[in-house]
Amino acid sequence: MQTGDTIIACATAPGLGARAVVRLSGPAAFVVVDENCGAAGRGRGVRAARWRMGAGVEVPCLIALFPGPRSYTGEDVVEIAMPGNPTLVERVIASAIGAIAGIRLAGPGEFTARAYLNERLTLAQAEGVASLIAAQSESELVEAKRLLSGERGAMYRAFADEAMTLLALVEAGIDFTDQEDVVAISGADLKRRAAGLATQIEGVLGNAAGEEARSELPRVALAGVPNAGKSTLFNVLLGRRRAVVSDEAGTTRDVLEEKLDLSRDIPGGSEVILCDTPGVADEAAGMIDAQAQAMSREFLASTDVVLWCDPTGRFEGGMEAVPGGRVIRVRTKADLPHGRTAEGAIEVSALDGFHVPSLRRAIADAAWGRAFVEAGGVLPRHRRALRGAGAELRAIEAEVGGGGQNIPEPELAAGRLRAVLDCLGELTGRMTPDDVIGRVFATFCVGK
Ligand code: GDP
Repeated sequence: MQTGDTIIACATAPGLGARAVVRLSGPAAFVVVDENCGAAGRGRGVRAARWRMGAGVEVPCLIALFPGPRSYTGEDVVEIAMPGNPTLVERVIASAIGAIAGIRLAGPGEFTARAYLNERLTLAQAEGVASLIAAQSESELVEAKRLLSGERGAMYRAFADEAMTLLALVEAGIDFTDQEDVVAISGADLKRRAAGLATQIEGVLGNAAGEEARSELPRVALAGVPNAGKSTLFNVLLGRRRAVVSDEAGTTRDVLEEKLDLSRDIPGGSEVILCDTPGVADEAAGMIDAQAQAMSREFLASTDVVLWCDPTGRFEGGMEAVPGGRVIRVRTKADLPHGRTAEGAIEVSALDGFHVPSLRRAIADAAWGRAFVEAGGVLPRHRRALRGAGAELRAIEAEVGGGGQNIPEPELAAGRLRAVLDCLGELTGRMTPDDVIGRVFATFCVGK
């Protein structure tokens, strides 16, 4: 992620509306305003102005100036509230980019990434922003609020502080091994405190610990009558040709499984296992098919999400028999003429990609959104990190054994505590590797 230049993006939803807001952040933000609608000054505040776009065209707008470092990103920030017309918005952005060198379009999440890099937000708060944008239920909103208020961050930091203290004590013990009477921390104390910290961490995980214990990725199965376009959709979702596509019904006989990464589709999303099944038809054509059909029904019953593909859009018969799981109705081949599509169904065309991104989000939501709520609203990335930290602490508890005065293998315990800190560091942001940052911000929309 490149910083230091000035970024611009429309911060409101695309399309027509009463108002749109274009946001700028960076050293040239105020200069752009000077260039396009007269002296901005350096003061914080809002004023009415007219944005000049060349060829004598001007747009009335309200300009809000937020000088850094007391701004959202920590840099100079300008928000231009203007009529919500996409063409005008595009022209305002183009005129700003054209006015001065060093201004470019913002990437997804880049405003919030800058806020994080300039220490205006912690990583957990930044994830709260992403969660708030995507929150679809009350419990997700509550969790987003917790992240934003820094409540979780403070708790994670307290965990890390305790782990850091334990590590310092264990290391002090290693350094003083030749002085018999100096015991920085006894085996019994280490065992008790490691177990105590593990219990606190497991408390945050709550039933998430159980949910994650199955350690399997959610399974998402494509199902529907033969020739519904399942294999084609399977390939399109994966972005490569994996399943054999044919207009001869019943081409897909075995269940094919491939990992599909949805981590960029919704915050907290992750991988799912996408499965292409033989078509479920009411009248099986022959022996092999009958077996395949029976197998696929059984298989569908064990999946977390079923994509019920139906090119007619009517969704009649066939799938009522699928117990459990969540069913997403997908009207396939949406590029072909058709009658009414049943309510709640997503219309998708594998040929031209129509609504494929919406389908990906719906899958991520069904597969991970539910896991997120069931897990007490702890983001999957947090869950993995907490689980890792908890497991290391439990290992220390076990390895310290009876918990006498001495720690049997202090180097091993120190190594484990460093691993605990690595896990927690991913949450507190202290030891965050770049790719974690990249992943967090990639789920944002442009303009945030
Ligand atoms: P499956 O039996 O459900 O796996 O169906 P296939 O994926 O093998 O597709 C059956 C036929 O429908 C093939 O000829 C595909 O080319 C065609 N098909 C699949 N998806 C689309 C689509 O989105 N639009 C159109 N027009 N044809 C499609």
